[in-house]
Amino acid sequence: MYWFIFCDNRLLLEKKEKGGYTIPFGKHPPVPLSANPLTVPDTGDMVCQTGTADVSAEETDRYILVALRASWDMLEPRFYLIAGKASQLLYWERHSRFCTACGTATESSPLPVMRFCPSCRHELYPFISIAILALVRKGDEEILLVRARNFKGAFHGLVAGFLEIGETLEECVAREVKEETGLDVCNITYFGNQSWPFPSGLMVGFTADYAGGEIKLQEDELTDGAFYNRGNLPPLPLKSSLARQMIDGWLTHPSSLSK
Ligand SMILES: [Zn+2]
Repeated sequence: MYWFIFCDNRLLLEKKEKGGYTIPFGKHPPVPLSANPLTVPDTGDMVCQTGTADVSAEETDRYILVALRASWDMLEPRFYLIAGKASQLLYWERHSRFCTACGTATESSPLPVMRFCPSCRHELYPFISIAILALVRKGDEEILLVRARNFKGAFHGLVAGFLEIGETLEECVAREVKEETGLDVCNITYFGNQSWPFPSGLMVGFTADYAGGEIKLQEDELTDGAFYNRGNLPPLPLKSSLARQMIDGWLTHPSSLSK
């Protein structure tokens, strides 16, 4: 079985003999675990276990620890996706120990990803935070890129924000763009979505067209925001992100994204 082991939010990878990295495989966990491992559900014909390493886990000649985001460049895509799922499973386990209705300690259930309250029978399932991404075009030549205060590094990305209760995804796009930049948008169109295990979310991408207004940044969220053309793009998000896939899609096929 494959072992998706995390230590201090970093994923344990095994060095391959001929170079590169992979997920450790074997009957037993590659390092001591701090608790019983969990089975990652729905991983096809692969058996995948996940757990948190004992605090003593450290890098050796055989193993390294890398941030989950960084592992995208180092692992086969199927392993990266399962690592994201494993990370969310562990996060949910850590944050569902007590009933959210009455505070009683929860118990595990025969279902792989459910816990329940023995006192009030409330059932707890993983919570997934839904966030939108908005690629806003101005004509055929420009897109809106912003720099959020919480971005690590110098890159600029797309307007993003969490879905609020009672809101459709399209309403969320229009509200977030307006709140963060002061702009109105139209032609809001679904692009794609991506599981976002940082720590447990789903990114849903939309394209839209500029419909009016002057840029006025929400300064507690953004440090920069402007329309950029293909010739003056700032540093862009990592290639693993949906935001980057949307920007790259616009760069290579601008017409396929419009209308
Ligand atoms: Zn309860």
